Amino acid sequence: MSVRVRLAPSPTGTLHIGTARTAVFNWLFARNCGGSFLLRIEDTDKERSKPEFTENILQGLQWLGIDWDESPVIQSERIEHHRAAIQTLLDRGLAYRCYANEDELEAMREAQKSSNQAPRYDNRHRNLTPEQEAAFQAEGREAVIRFRIDDSADIRWKDLVRGAMSWRGADLGGDMVVARRAPADQIGDPLYNLVVVVDDAAMEISHVIRGEDHIANTAKQILLYEALGLPLPTFAHTPLILNAEGRKLSKRDGVTSINDFRSMGYTPDAIGNYMTLLGWSVPEGMEERFSLAQAAEVFSFDRVNKAGARFDWDKLNWLNAQVLHALSPEQLLDALQPLWDQQGWSVPSDRAWALALAELLGPSLTLLKDGIDQAAPFFSEPALESDALAQLEVDGARPALQALSSLLESDPWDGLDPDRGKELLGAAVKEAGVKKGVLMKTLRGALLGRLQGPDLMTTWGLLARLGCDRQRLLRCF
Ligand code: GLU
Repeated sequence: MSVRVRLAPSPTGTLHIGTARTAVFNWLFARNCGGSFLLRIEDTDKERSKPEFTENILQGLQWLGIDWDESPVIQSERIEHHRAAIQTLLDRGLAYRCYANEDELEAMREAQKSSNQAPRYDNRHRNLTPEQEAAFQAEGREAVIRFRIDDSADIRWKDLVRGAMSWRGADLGGDMVVARRAPADQIGDPLYNLVVVVDDAAMEISHVIRGEDHIANTAKQILLYEALGLPLPTFAHTPLILNAEGRKLSKRDGVTSINDFRSMGYTPDAIGNYMTLLGWSVPEGMEERFSLAQAAEVFSFDRVNKAGARFDWDKLNWLNAQVLHALSPEQLLDALQPLWDQQGWSVPSDRAWALALAELLGPSLTLLKDGIDQAAPFFSEPALESDALAQLEVDGARPALQALSSLLESDPWDGLDPDRGKELLGAAVKEAGVKKGVLMKTLRGALLGRLQGPDLMTTWGLLARLGCDRQRLLRCF
């Protein structure tokens, strides 16, 4: 049997991190087995589904490097198949119309609450006589369609992550609504558990891989597969993503969407890598930094953990830094240039200069956007910050800068030959009679406005090539 898996996102929001992680596991498994990874857009919630969310989800997956194998299935286009399946259930006596209205259901729930019972539908309309049905219809009542769930049902499956699973029919909340309320001669809008089963079967999905929050749905869906005479797929329920406190990661943790990570400056490689590590442990001998393609070669569900996966920002930052540090100056510049353009900075047309700047900043980047703050002094003169100002007060600091400035006045440096820069420094130190360290520190402060920064000689060289180095010294004395 060929492996066919799917991601079934609901386009009611941007690509959620949980959905992205589910996508990653499905994709890794499919690619590992030489199977197919499919998409199904679950757009049956007409009010909340929006085409721009579908667009965002597809783009987010592409950004992560997750490709899919066939045109995405659009769930709303399959409604006649869903209705036909419901009709089959009705014809087989496995589903029935329930005329209970909202007030009656509310009263039922209240009664359950006051007698400390778990809320559930009490199957009150399971065995209506034709006369009772006719009477409800004569009242003008509409009906939902419910699928019978026997309390005694013993539902078992072998989960690829969680092993042997079992669920009792009695714990599924009573007969399940499979179609929304509609006039009694119609079938209302089909609901999630039913449509998923019909579509997964039609798409010949071999493995349903999704978050563990779907376990109770799986139990219900297995009953539907059996009722409709459809072959059961294999199930794998992946652990939830938790925050540092061990609770399900939510909006309050500041990020929920892949967009958020993207705009925070994370690379798709680091995110894909980290999503994989959220719940999967690398085989012995494999490093934690890998590409999705590398992970796909060795991915298996044996190494997916049952326990929830805690989101660890330090780990993600570390991975992101690894990815950025491994980029070539060309790749780094391609990534940084749009950020610099967004700042309205005019990047010199000299590509060698821009490449040298990218190369200079690369090793200190954790997030791509760090390359904005760190590049700023190369595009406009920075104000002198307190540490740079304090350095100017150090004995000999100003005279040393002055000496360097006079040397540059008579013989400016074009910034290209580093030996020439070193000579200039040596001469200025000698002339001012200060330690080399004093001049270097002060020069960094004068050029960058602060004492922290990348390699001094390269920094100075880049500014000298723009012809703005001496200008920055002059303002210091
Ligand atoms: N649309 C459902 C969701 O986004 C799909 C769940 C499933 O994979 O069956 O949660």
